[in-house]
Amino acid sequence: RQQLYRELRDKPTATKDGVKIDLLMNAGLLVDLPQLVESGAGGIGLYRTELQFMVASTFPRAEAQERLYKDVLDAARGKPVTFRTIDIGGDKVLPYFKGVQQEENPALGWRAIRLTLDRPGLLKTQIRALLKAAGGRELKVMLPMVTELGEIAQAREIIDKEVRHLSRFAHMLPNTMKVGAMVEVPSLLWQLDELMSAVDFVSVGSNDLFQFVMATDRGNSTLANRFDPLSVPFLRTLKQIADAGKRNNTPVTLCGELAGKPISAMALMGLGYRSISMSPAAIGPVKAMMLELPLGQLETFMQENLSGKSATLPMRALLQAFADDR
Ligand code: PEP
Ligand code: MG
Repeated sequence: RQQLYRELRDKPTATKDGVKIDLLMNAGLLVDLPQLVESGAGGIGLYRTELQFMVASTFPRAEAQERLYKDVLDAARGKPVTFRTIDIGGDKVLPYFKGVQQEENPALGWRAIRLTLDRPGLLKTQIRALLKAAGGRELKVMLPMVTELGEIAQAREIIDKEVRHLSRFAHMLPNTMKVGAMVEVPSLLWQLDELMSAVDFVSVGSNDLFQFVMATDRGNSTLANRFDPLSVPFLRTLKQIADAGKRNNTPVTLCGELAGKPISAMALMGLGYRSISMSPAAIGPVKAMMLELPLGQLETFMQENLSGKSATLPMRALLQAFADDR
């Protein structure tokens, strides 16, 4: 199989009926970067910047952050990279970060964008490092755990201020800059059109979105097989986001674990996703599936099943049967 995947690597990433779909990879450490060439990924759809913070014993200095972001962009050689601002808090604790209280519900707590807007020094340093590292190149920055649109406005203010600061000192700025948000908190589902006009792109964090939509701790192994992301309610949730992206002309990606399993990647394509980001090892199997996928047939199949009156259809089994038949 490894041999097969290697042969597929340089084939265009399109379905059997010729629809182009971007297969991107998730990364977070320098050791991940050689995978960009080996896997044939079209870019890095999610770069988890908090990993540098998690493996350190103190806050990484501005210079170390800038160095890392430069190395990542150099390794990507012009392929797009989406840097997510630090997603710490929740289950990702930094032992050296004092002043964090024990929380009863850390997943719902002081984390990600909530934390960095309250400690703007952290966000400023990171944004400045990103802007400097991406001088003369494209910079894509993504905000995690956005709940209200005001958080995007606040983050944008910090970004704009850093841009002004660097240009005053004649630093080379990125030649294009895109700001996006993760869709992983359900409140965004009822403000999708406003969200899409507030950002340049969105990426669905299906790990957290599933946890919050189903009220099910993503790390609890007792519950791990109880609810299915390939169920009617969750698939309808994902479809709403893809539809809103189309309606608003806003690029939508999905970068949770769901993207890395061929059967669920197939479902995502059937829902309208044209860009998904996954662990590098998943790209071969997902691409092998995609090259055999008659997407038009799948879209009709999913429309019929998801718009019907039953929320209890066994979608996983139906999707599996669709795949087996073809
Ligand atoms: C997600 O929530 O789906 C996601 C991609 O982010 P993380 O797994 O890092 O929370
Ligand atoms: Mg998440």
